[in-house]
Amino acid sequence: MKSRDRLRIAMQKSGRLTEPAQELLARCGLKFRQSRDKLFCFGEGEPVDLLLVRDDDIPGLIAEGVCDLGIVGRNVLREFQLSQPEPGEGLAELRSLGFGRCRLSIAVPHEDGYDGPAQLDGRAIATSYPGLLGEWLRSHGVAARVVYLAGSVEIAPRLGTADAICDLVSSGATLVANQLREAAVVIESEAVLAGRRDLPADERGEIAELLLRRLDGVIQVRDSRLILLQAPRNALDDITRLLPGMPVPTLTAVDGAPDQVVVQALCAGSVSWRQLEDMKRAGARDMLVLPVEKMLA
Ligand code: ATP
Ligand code: ZN
Repeated sequence: MKSRDRLRIAMQKSGRLTEPAQELLARCGLKFRQSRDKLFCFGEGEPVDLLLVRDDDIPGLIAEGVCDLGIVGRNVLREFQLSQPEPGEGLAELRSLGFGRCRLSIAVPHEDGYDGPAQLDGRAIATSYPGLLGEWLRSHGVAARVVYLAGSVEIAPRLGTADAICDLVSSGATLVANQLREAAVVIESEAVLAGRRDLPADERGEIAELLLRRLDGVIQVRDSRLILLQAPRNALDDITRLLPGMPVPTLTAVDGAPDQVVVQALCAGSVSWRQLEDMKRAGARDMLVLPVEKMLA
């Protein structure tokens, strides 16, 4: 094969992952020449080009060396890995990207109820993910028949082609609309950066590493929150324990209130209302949670 000196990233041409993937790459400083309906987008600053394809084709394109990296759902990547003779080799999940969250779940007709995996014994389950479902069934000691369907899996029970389904769920609205109830989660999924286990040992490998470093910075900033609050000194330990990622806070004295401090801390991950309420009960007040725009240690 002719060698390439530019890095090539595969991503979904149009679908749920397209916009967030484009935004992520833009945040990493990558710019591409606009070509809405083309397969190929030429990168303008860095030597990185894009290939816009169906999400299902992404793992294969990386495995064959047509692309170096890809942005794809973990569900699609894992299913591809399981279809390979040596699932542990070849492709790897290099980073999880925090968007496109969903789960691959088994669902049963609402009126059936669900009281555990054994209930699925001897049943037919429709899915587009035979590899992942097969793995779950084996690990739960269930002997069920897997019916492969490329799409419209959710109507299989009503059509009588299966007793249950195994499909992607996010809000659960599709399940409700089809009178199904979620019974068991097979895997939790989100968009991931996929690549071969060993990056090429040439310029492309160097570009890939540069991109991974930028990506780590972007992910860290996106997932960080700055929290500011005031608290009694004697409540500091309790409050710090409640902060996501248990950061080491910076303390500032409060004029005229020697038993009080202002706490500033960089948290890993978002801070929920529940966590704020817990901190308030522990003695914190005047709490502010701020997004972080850029970070340089
Ligand atoms: P194509 O094959 O044309 O690229 P698609 O129909 O397979 O598109 P989408 O429906 O856009 O793909 O889903 C892409 C990915 O988005 C899924 O593989 C999954 O990882 C993720 N996703 C997040 N939430 C959901 C959901 N509720 N239903 C389906 N996929 C979801
Ligand atoms: Zn697809």
